[in-house]
Amino acid sequence: MKGAVLYGPRDVRFEERDAPKIIKPTDAVIRMSATCVCGSDLWPYRGINPIDQPTPMGHEYCGIVEEVGSAVTSIRRGQFVIGSFFASDNTCPICQAGYQSSCQHRELVGGAQAPLLRVPLADGTLVAIPDSPSDDLIPSLLALSDVMGTGWFAADAANVKPGMTVAVVGDGAVGLLGVLSARQMGAERIIAMSRHESRQKLAREFGATDIVTERGDDGVAHIKELTNGIGADAVLECVGTQESMTQAIRSTRPGGSVGFVGVPHGVEINGEELFYAHVHLHGGPAPVRRFLPELIDLVLNGTINPGKVFDLTLPLDEVAKGYRAMDERRAIKTLLRP
Ligand SMILES: [Zn+2]
Repeated sequence: MKGAVLYGPRDVRFEERDAPKIIKPTDAVIRMSATCVCGSDLWPYRGINPIDQPTPMGHEYCGIVEEVGSAVTSIRRGQFVIGSFFASDNTCPICQAGYQSSCQHRELVGGAQAPLLRVPLADGTLVAIPDSPSDDLIPSLLALSDVMGTGWFAADAANVKPGMTVAVVGDGAVGLLGVLSARQMGAERIIAMSRHESRQKLAREFGATDIVTERGDDGVAHIKELTNGIGADAVLECVGTQESMTQAIRSTRPGGSVGFVGVPHGVEINGEELFYAHVHLHGGPAPVRRFLPELIDLVLNGTINPGKVFDLTLPLDEVAKGYRAMDERRAIKTLLRP
């Protein structure tokens, strides 16, 4: 089997790897229908997260179950399944509270940019779809594996409610799907912060009512201007830099909420500023598993089409091109077909 392996900064190779197999009786192995490159894959790709050894890449997946371990009871061979980047038992107290990405038995799923993938804790992690979906639904179902679930969590964590004014910091796939999520949750006004025309267009398509192109203090000033000097009720932080986090906190009205899902890189929060900002902060790695059943329904009944964030589709063996296009911001998100 060949799969994507990162060797160092901007060095992704498609090369021979051992095919995954059942290691624990709770595992499943799935044959990928599609996988993709994540914005978070760009951190190690750019060398910002150093890697010390060649690393199999990818953590977004959907596909057909090929094999299950002896202890797997609900997932069966031949089912079409979607799971998240953290495997979870879905039964421990933390899972029951809806935080499967902090499951007491969680395991990171990796190496998904390949034709086959081992998924631990298959019963808790995977959600099966009743019938095999038509091919045109695959991109949207794949998006649920991470970016859509993460955008949804950003909106959920920011406590988006009908009628609210919401601001979204970040115009990557997660930010754009944060716009879609806020719309679906009934936000009345959605301000997308983006400087890229193609992304602004998609943001509008997903439900953005206003676009703010400025960043930093100017971006905050523009949000305030659009909200009678008050700030947004809910702000979705979908980048993970100091600038984006500061921008998110300062764009939120007192009593409002920031949902932060950008993996923080060097972000520090000033206690005194936070104290006087009077905002709720909630975020972290999205408990995608919590949202999968609902989001799968919304995709299958045609309510949402998050697969639109994939603006580049490549055969899996051209995975390196997919990274490059995203690194150079020529593509929002690359879908890979084995
Ligand atoms: Zn758990």
